Order: sequence, then structure tokens, then C-alpha cells
Amino acid sequence: MNTALELKQITKRFGATQILRGVDLSVREGERHALIGPNGSGKSTLFDLIAGRTQPTSGHIVLNSIDVTSMPAHRLGRKGLARSFQTTSVFTGLTVCDNVRCAVLGSRTATWKDRWFRSSVIDEAAHRVMTAIGLADRSDALAASLSYAESRSLDLGLALATGASVLLLDEPTAGMNRAEAARALALIRETTQGKTLLIVEHDMEAVFALADCISVLVQGRIIATGTPADIAADPVVRSAYLGELP
Ligand code: ADP
Ligand code: MG
Repeated sequence: MNTALELKQITKRFGATQILRGVDLSVREGERHALIGPNGSGKSTLFDLIAGRTQPTSGHIVLNSIDVTSMPAHRLGRKGLARSFQTTSVFTGLTVCDNVRCAVLGSRTATWKDRWFRSSVIDEAAHRVMTAIGLADRSDALAASLSYAESRSLDLGLALATGASVLLLDEPTAGMNRAEAARALALIRETTQGKTLLIVEHDMEAVFALADCISVLVQGRIIATGTPADIAADPVVRSAYLGELP
């Protein structure tokens, strides 16, 4: 299978502090790859680099066989990458539907004719996304009026609406109770079928149920990569996680 995303010897330094210390990571097309690691190990920093929000100090990022190192976020969107944030980032002053329409309008599949003349094409695509994320009946609600869990679903919907083939999800269940988190993860599993997923998630049971492959980042280095079974059996990982693994 082809490689969708490859990181080669990524380092990141903020001033004198080295956060990432030579990260190699390979995510195959269609794979669900989880990145786990203690707080402060550099997971969000790595996502910022992949998503073009900041630049690595050294190393290379290859997306669908194209070197995208230091490519700005808006161009990465055109290359098939979407990212959801650890904190929700929807337009609170717009309705659910208008939020999704904006994402569809910016998607790589919408043609200029769709944008100018065929609003029905855009509306239908937005409706499909809202149905997928369970918010079709909240279409006209202002995003500001959504519950926390609903606004996270909308955030996922915006990433899906861009038509991206590679999705980066940073702690999509942060701040949710267990029932909400379970629903959100089921939603992620359903709506990302066939897409490539790189996800940061703290709930180890959820990670082990969802991921095909897990990488463990500790102090800016990947200390292990493998199937959930490999990772659960790895003595180095087990000692870093002290009983949190299933
Ligand atoms: P994680 O997502 O794994 O919890 P982060 O990537 O958010 O970890 O942070 C890793 C480390 O990098 C932390 O020690 C954090 O304080 C530091 N860090 C993150 N962003 C910056 C920044 N812009 N400037 C300086 N230090 C930063
Ligand atoms: Mg983080």
C-alpha cells in the first residue's frame, strides 16, 4: 500500500529548547494511525508542523509523494490534508449549515462553476456532511448554541467537508464525558472509512479499539511503532504508561 504521509527526521526547536528530536513516522493510505505519548511530549507541535502552521527546524514532510515541508496551511488543504484542533475552531456567529458550506466551498472537489452557479451542489454536499455527523436537524442553529460535543462533531464535519484524504485529529474527545467520547469515536470511525487518519487521543481503550497502528512519542522521540498488540506487549511502552494500557 502507498504511503500517504511520511515524516523524515523532523526536529523542532523553540529558542534553546528542543521539542522534537528526529521524528520518523510513516502512515499508509487508508491507515488509522494513533500518536500517543505523555502530555508535553510534542504531539501538538508535530501536528502544527504537518499542518503547515509552523515550520520544522530540520527534516522533511512528504504528503502523497509530494514534499510539503514548510508549505502553508491553505496550500496543504489543496493537497488533501485537513486538521481538526485540540480546541474547537468553528465560526460561532454562523449557522451549522453555513459553517459546513464554507468548508465545502473551499474544498478541492468544488469546481468554480459549482461555486458561482450551482449552489444546489454545494448545499447537497453540506447536507451529506451534516447527516454524517448527526447534525442535520441542527442545520439552522447558530454554532454558538451547540453543546460542546456537538461543536466537536461540527469541527470533524468541517475537516470532512474539505474532501481531504488525510485527516489529522488532535484530541477529538478532549473535554467530553465517557458517553460523549464513545459516540464521538464511533462517529470518527464511521465517517473516516477509507481515509487516512492520524489521531492523538488520550483514552487508551479507544486508541486500541480504533487504530491499525500506534506510535509512541516520548520527549520528542518515537520510542515505538506497531500494531496495538505489539504496543501493548512492548515493555518500554508499558513502563512509560504504568498500567494505563488495556
Ligand atoms: P503535547 O501535545 O504532546 O501535549 P505539545 O506539542 O503541546 O505537547 O508541547 C510540547 C512542548 O513544547 C511543551 O513543553 C510545550 O511547553 C512546548 N511548546 C509548545 N509550543 C511552544 C512554543 N510556541 N514555544 C515554546 N515552547 C512551546
Ligand atoms: Mg497536545
